[in-house]
Amino acid sequence: MGFRFRKSVNFGPLRVNFSKSGIGYSVGGKGFRATKKAGGGFRTTASIPGTGISYVRDYSSSGKQKSSGKSSPPSSSGPINQTPPPSGGKKRRKWPYIVAAVLVVGMIGSCVQNDDTDQVSGGGFTAPVSSSISTSEMEAPAITSLSLDCDQAIELDVKDTQSIPVLVLEEGADATDVEFTSSAPDVLTFTPQDDNGTLVGVATPKAEGTAEISVSAGDVKSQIVTITVIDSERIAAEEAAKKAAEEEAARKAAEEAAAQQAAQQAAQQQQQSQQSQSNGRTVYITPTGKRYHYDNHCNDGTYIPSTLAEALAKGLTPCKKCAGG
Ligand SMILES: [Zn+2]
Repeated sequence: MGFRFRKSVNFGPLRVNFSKSGIGYSVGGKGFRATKKAGGGFRTTASIPGTGISYVRDYSSSGKQKSSGKSSPPSSSGPINQTPPPSGGKKRRKWPYIVAAVLVVGMIGSCVQNDDTDQVSGGGFTAPVSSSISTSEMEAPAITSLSLDCDQAIELDVKDTQSIPVLVLEEGADATDVEFTSSAPDVLTFTPQDDNGTLVGVATPKAEGTAEISVSAGDVKSQIVTITVIDSERIAAEEAAKKAAEEEAARKAAEEAAAQQAAQQAAQQQQQSQQSQSNGRTVYITPTGKRYHYDNHCNDGTYIPSTLAEALAKGLTPCKKCAGG
């Protein structure tokens, strides 16, 4: 595979092109351009911007028509100078003529872009030419490289689309036959779009999943870009549902813990209350007896009412007959 080198430098309307085959010049702007080709000869191109229609004239370096398009005899309505083409008898330096011609033709061309004249002249240079109108760029350079100007992997929401610029070399190559491919059209489609003269691919998601996209022109292929389509709304909804379930579970656990604690407290309180109740219950004692009685008629005795707590504090023990001792 050969090494390629292309470089252009602009000086106002003048552009100098450096390439493997030499140095070329062109002058002009949108709508009109006159080019001195590196390999010799020059070309003028008049175009109607945005229509793809262009008007191309090719000249050989000797001033003779080079293109094989339709030709017609020189018109008598052409510009004044009718000097015949320079003869090939004597080797002449052609550069000054060519540069001058390019500049003059540039000036003429910018004034009379769609003039039907079949002759142009300037600076002693006269050339019969042919005219041709084409609907696509004639002799466009072949595509040598294609690439997608984006990351290797992209995540895209199912509701969004993404425009990816397609970088096409050589500059000015006809990109109408570039094919756009998606490995999974049911997940994502990838279609061409002209964005103000720049070729872009539009990635349009259809469903969640993964698709590999690329562009190609014959054997020239771009890199493969992987696009993962996600539905962020679904993911958010699932996360919200999961969070709600977790919160509900936590709330239930807290409720159960609280209920358990409440039950425990209630049981404790009941126990305490029962204990305090039993400690406070009335028992019957005698000033000298070692027992306390629940029955104040036990053994027909005479008793003094007291509390169980007091009786226990005095070291009295329960009567075997009436207090379960
Ligand atoms: Zn008793």
